[in-house]
Amino acid sequence: MRWSPLLVAALVTLTAPHAGAQSPAFPTPQSILGWEPGTDRKLPTWKQVTDYFTALDAASPHVQLRTLGRTTLGRPFLVAIISDSANLAQLERYRGIQQQLLDPRVRGTADRAQLAADGKVVVLITSSIHSTEVGGFLTPLVLADRLLRSPNAEAREILRNTIILLVPSQNPDGVDIVGDWYRSTLGTPAEGTTPPDLYHFYTGHDNNRDWYAFTQKETRYTIDSLYAPWTPQIVNDVHQQQANAGRIFIPPYMDPIEPNIDPILTASTNALGLAMAWRMIADGKTGVATNASYDQWSPARQYSLNHHGVRILTETASARLATAVELPLGLLGTARGYDARVQTWNFPALWPGGRWGIGDIVSYQSHASWALLASVARNRAQWLESYATLGDRAMAADHPWTTTPVPTAFVIPKAQRNAAAVQRLVWTLQHGQVEVYESSPAGSYVVPTRQPFGSYAKALLERQQYPNLAEYPGGPPKRPYDVTAHTLPLLFGVDVQPVTGDAPALGALAAPVAEPEYRVNGLSIKTKRRIAIYKSYAAIMDEGWTRWLFDVNRIPFTSIVDRDVRAGALRKRFDVIILPDQGALGIRRGLGGPYPDSLRGGVGDAGVAALRAFVAEGGTVIAFNEASEFAIEALELPVRNVLAGVRNTEFYAPGSLLAIEVDRSHPMAATLTAPVPAAWFEDSPTFEITDASRAVAVARYPVSGSPLLSGWLNGGARLNGKAALVEASVGKGRVVLFGFRPQYRGQTMGTEQLLWGAVLRQGQ
Ligand SMILES: [Zn+2]
Repeated sequence: MRWSPLLVAALVTLTAPHAGAQSPAFPTPQSILGWEPGTDRKLPTWKQVTDYFTALDAASPHVQLRTLGRTTLGRPFLVAIISDSANLAQLERYRGIQQQLLDPRVRGTADRAQLAADGKVVVLITSSIHSTEVGGFLTPLVLADRLLRSPNAEAREILRNTIILLVPSQNPDGVDIVGDWYRSTLGTPAEGTTPPDLYHFYTGHDNNRDWYAFTQKETRYTIDSLYAPWTPQIVNDVHQQQANAGRIFIPPYMDPIEPNIDPILTASTNALGLAMAWRMIADGKTGVATNASYDQWSPARQYSLNHHGVRILTETASARLATAVELPLGLLGTARGYDARVQTWNFPALWPGGRWGIGDIVSYQSHASWALLASVARNRAQWLESYATLGDRAMAADHPWTTTPVPTAFVIPKAQRNAAAVQRLVWTLQHGQVEVYESSPAGSYVVPTRQPFGSYAKALLERQQYPNLAEYPGGPPKRPYDVTAHTLPLLFGVDVQPVTGDAPALGALAAPVAEPEYRVNGLSIKTKRRIAIYKSYAAIMDEGWTRWLFDVNRIPFTSIVDRDVRAGALRKRFDVIILPDQGALGIRRGLGGPYPDSLRGGVGDAGVAALRAFVAEGGTVIAFNEASEFAIEALELPVRNVLAGVRNTEFYAPGSLLAIEVDRSHPMAATLTAPVPAAWFEDSPTFEITDASRAVAVARYPVSGSPLLSGWLNGGARLNGKAALVEASVGKGRVVLFGFRPQYRGQTMGTEQLLWGAVLRQGQ
């Protein structure tokens, strides 16, 4: 008897609830890739990843694949929603329960305990946002396969009790940028090196620092289509770390914690992380580190912790992309918080050393995510009860975890000099799920702190007081994992007033504001300047952010690489050359080591001579932050960096907002609108002019008092009266030195106007 395929499918469905296990058409990762995930020296293309999840979607009733949009370079951005088919059939019902648990106003008179009994835990898994962390290209396939192909009892419990939003890559472009580079270098000395391009077209590694500013498409897809509708209880962010310490990091995080985060989230992050470590060690994994390396401070990379969801970062040890490394125990060393050769409470099982490759990475990553899912599925009701409590506490009159009075609201006057910046601020808050109200009477926006994500709004609208942490008593400062300030009013150059005591009268909920266009901050470009942006093969994030800023403002520019600079005759082609934030040695010497000759060498002596000629002939060089030191030396400027050689025990400001006093009579600063000009200071130089006839300070730090506005600053007196922004005359040309980052991560609209002022300025 001949069976029609349809009939077979129907019968299999009737007899086996997990039909996939029996279906010959059920895809395995190997059937799509042609090799097992974790095979040495093999990485998938984004098309292969897409093909796998497309095939899975067709074969399994427990998967719904959705395309959320196109990436920066045009690839499909995917999410696979994975849950029991019965749950998938009622996704909107479960989303409704989620919202009722989240917000007591939505819940109304519904029974909270019943909702918690009925709901599912929503788990967002984001993988490989950092594209040289290549295990993350494969782990989502391994996880999906393990959940769906022949699910055991534990897998069935996970499918029944959770709704998994699996983002196979948070940066699909990077899967191919890194994969293509890797495949092109196999068998050459460059095998296993990082590519000479940013692996996110604009932001590189900073793509995971965009979770409150939402400048990039990929961030927005995840926020708009996953975080906003679902507000997940759990986020698992799959990363990789250095090769030579622990095999994997799992939370608890190190101090400091962002003080606005509800401690329920910190405690449940710790509990879940330790449960995962327990499971992994019980399953025979070694080298598991907790309470190490990573902190819980910046909202730039932990959206969920500010939105009622724990963030479980996993950081597995890297190899050389998909090429294995040999790591004897003696070559292992320390990471912050432990030594990989010493048993401690947070590193109890030593990894003996040896070979470490892509198979190990995928095994650790998928094992950790599995441990997370299994634990969460088993404790479903507890997670939902805790989530409801978070919602109730957010609407309470005060934060029960702090003795500091909490402002009742923040007021944003509408009538400000830079209307686009006000609009950008309100758009940014609303995009982060913050409720913004009209004032009564009208004239301002009001952001009350009693609202579901009021503590997130507070974190972004207040000034940060980063704790003065030392490595040990009297020792050097304890470096933050990232940066220490995230005050939007200072970054954007907008006036925002906190209100304590009685909350101001609220009008209606403000309608969602349209995203303002980037239009050079309201300046009109009257000139047609020919602009070049220097692009090092060392792939500098600040270069990418600079390109992004010019692109969104639709200002044409040319990227020039080392050989273009070395070739000279720059003045014939350009009026302005921008040197993004990069160390002097990096600009001069560039890539070395195993890279092909065409990429090696930096601008070199020939490039320095060419830049000198460019300025002498009337060109303008604009140097950002650390590149200023290159410019001072290469272009022989009458300027000295007063922080050169100063130890971090004497001066420290690792990503902070500092007050500057701007000479508004200078043509470069004429359009500045920020009520409190704030410089983004991060590994920055600070200037003293040694010949006042050839250089002027356009901005200085205050002559007395601490310049700190937000974040962390030790030894600030060294800055008093020193220059933060200098313009020097050289020959017929000009050199502008920014002793800070004027366009930091696309956020510093408050100082960006100085950059446009420098770019557009003409004449002597
Ligand atoms: Zn990473």
